[in-house]
Amino acid sequence: MAKNDEFRILGRRPGNEESIRFTYRGVTFDQDSFHVAAGLNAVDTREYVDRTFAALQAAGQVVARMGAYKPRTSPYSFQGYGRQCLPWVFESAGRHGIRVISMEVTHDEHVDEIREALRLTGEPAGVMLQIGTRNTQNFELLKTVGGQRDFPILLKRGFGITLHESLLAAEYVASEGNRDIVFCLRGMKTNFGDPHRNLVDFGHVPVVRRLTRMPVCVDPSHSVGTHEASPEGIPDVFHVAAQGVIAGANLLLVDMHPEPRRALVDAAQAITLEELPWFLEDMAIAREAWLRRREAAAGRAGA
Ligand code: PEP
Ligand code: MN
Repeated sequence: MAKNDEFRILGRRPGNEESIRFTYRGVTFDQDSFHVAAGLNAVDTREYVDRTFAALQAAGQVVARMGAYKPRTSPYSFQGYGRQCLPWVFESAGRHGIRVISMEVTHDEHVDEIREALRLTGEPAGVMLQIGTRNTQNFELLKTVGGQRDFPILLKRGFGITLHESLLAAEYVASEGNRDIVFCLRGMKTNFGDPHRNLVDFGHVPVVRRLTRMPVCVDPSHSVGTHEASPEGIPDVFHVAAQGVIAGANLLLVDMHPEPRRALVDAAQAITLEELPWFLEDMAIAREAWLRRREAAAGRAGA
């Protein structure tokens, strides 16, 4: 059996080539679309949440990221405000026209808590359930999110397993019934990526698009982990994000904070609200280049 056949549902092969495509809260995700999900790594204060959503709204964005449940390496680190922050986060999102929030869940109870908080607040926004890199092979969690149809799923690649293993994790989700999955590259854990936090793996964007039908996300923040910049003043986060976009990425997950130095989690890697318009402009350039590259390739195919 060709390796590709292991991805029975999500695999791209003759007769099974159509992109995974879903529209959630009016936003369509597939292998052609392009969205940015910027926002807080971890929810901290109401003021920062409001200011972050306001900046996104001002920039015309309808997708965001917000972490309420934070898996941390040290038991003594801030673990996120959990369910208690959900109502006001969702209300703020709704007030600012944000339709989809990528939010990590680490336990099946979190899915119920999110569903309940959305119900109690009148469904002001939607949530994409994010499975973090530390849970890529948490098979019971994968079955939980795959077995519900209320929310789409953003599955992160495992930082210490093969791409093939991570794609099988996505297949686990799909095999439970929910195919509304976006696959996210976020860098690999090895010292060879130094001085970046992880070794950037965005060269795998075309590989995931070739092997599977899933839309592909890249997370430049967790890949780079710092706010260092090239001599031109362009942050490394922008550079690697552009590398993902120029290769056809469909979603960008980006840490952003009104005052990064005060962020409770991953302060070093967040872009600022002031940088958002520049970041979006830079990504529009990369996206335009991707569309032109695709057109050039189509021209060759037709020649
Ligand atoms: C995150 O996006 O907040 C996160 C924890 O990412 P990862 O699972 O990739 O480390
Ligand atoms: Mn993190």
